[in-house]
Amino acid sequence: LAKRYIGLEKSIWTELNALPIVHKAIDLGQGFIDYAPPHYFIDLYKETLDDPNIFLHQYTREMGHRRLVEAISNVYSPYFNRKIDPLTEILVTDGATQSLFNCIHSFINPDDEVILIEPFFSCYEPMVHSACGIPRYIALKPKPESIKADISSSSDWILHKNELESMFNSRTRLIIINTPNNPVGKVFTRNELEHIANLCQKHDVICISDEVYEWIVYDENKKHIRIATLPNMWERTLTIGSAGKTFSSTGLKLGWTIGPQHLMRSCRVVHQNCVISCPTISQEVVARCFEYELKRINSSKCYFNSISNEFLEKRDKFVQALKECGIKPVVPDGGYFILADYSQFAGDKFQSDTDDVKDIKFVRYLTKEKQLATIPATIFYTDDHHHLAENYIRFCFVKKDETLDKAIEILRKLK
Ligand code: PMP
Ligand code: GLN
Repeated sequence: LAKRYIGLEKSIWTELNALPIVHKAIDLGQGFIDYAPPHYFIDLYKETLDDPNIFLHQYTREMGHRRLVEAISNVYSPYFNRKIDPLTEILVTDGATQSLFNCIHSFINPDDEVILIEPFFSCYEPMVHSACGIPRYIALKPKPESIKADISSSSDWILHKNELESMFNSRTRLIIINTPNNPVGKVFTRNELEHIANLCQKHDVICISDEVYEWIVYDENKKHIRIATLPNMWERTLTIGSAGKTFSSTGLKLGWTIGPQHLMRSCRVVHQNCVISCPTISQEVVARCFEYELKRINSSKCYFNSISNEFLEKRDKFVQALKECGIKPVVPDGGYFILADYSQFAGDKFQSDTDDVKDIKFVRYLTKEKQLATIPATIFYTDDHHHLAENYIRFCFVKKDETLDKAIEILRKLK
């Protein structure tokens, strides 16, 4: 194994994603819906497969299938307050994961620093390591009163301004933000984003903004804000999206990066020396889906506008159940997940030791003994900060009612 991958051999996801299958557990672990994606998505998929154009079965343009980059430009330009050039300012990738890899590997030289905000989607850290960069960690801190409360909000998790400022120095190359956040569901406020934006400008830092849950926001007053739209930020921001999350079909594994030409040029170099191009059929399907949504983008029927209502009911149902069971939920303002404090069920049986952290032990127990799969919160933190998260586990609540009901039944019996 190449030296830069040493230390990254074990992925906890590989174990966790397999556990519910082995133990026939109700799966509130990995982030995906367990019912059919929107109807029109399936219809357009079939229509594309039936299309007589034989070139849909061959390689397509490296930076992204022409019809797709045009559709992305048409949908997103108004949200970025500018005309996004489909040919130079968009790069289509094999999922947001590959966009992240591209962006990180395009800009990191050995020993460059990357600021990661905990809790962070766990692939950021190994990608920084494999690019020979140095991750620097800063945690969102729940307000002390919210830790004690039976129910709290993801907006209680905040960055301390001075602490963030102290993370930036002359070696800082990138900061990665994720809004709405996985796993806590925080939607960053304009004020918070402005602070980050000012620091990026002051220290000449590029911002990677992971916005895969951009359409999933539950509070009218906490709208999703794209940091690329803040003054002087377009030039230094790479915004990442995911077709899997946008159209509730994570199996697509198709994503994109949107950014200014001078940064996209570097992303393109990594892309063309890695995957070269992405699957044509999936890109054609996603292009047709975007075109379909664009026609009704201002209507409440548009999936981007209705998806949050669909998930909101599920969120509220699950939050209520967690509260009743004494598993203290942090109510998310966006995204697929709820973090909850399970510690009163853990007792002395689940203590962190040199082998494993408390939440990982509890998650294994819940999956194997109670047939309910969840995700431990510490995997979204660096090892030194596990103490900040070991009392929390993550539930994915974008599941059919039947699944949620079965999970709730298990939780009720835990008491
Ligand atoms: N970023 C975040 C925050 C995620 O939760 C995920 C997983 N869905 C991804 C990126 C990766 O998305 P994709 O499946 O498109 O690679
Ligand atoms: N983004 C998904 C999640 O957070 C999938 C992660 C994975 O399988 N590595 O659950």
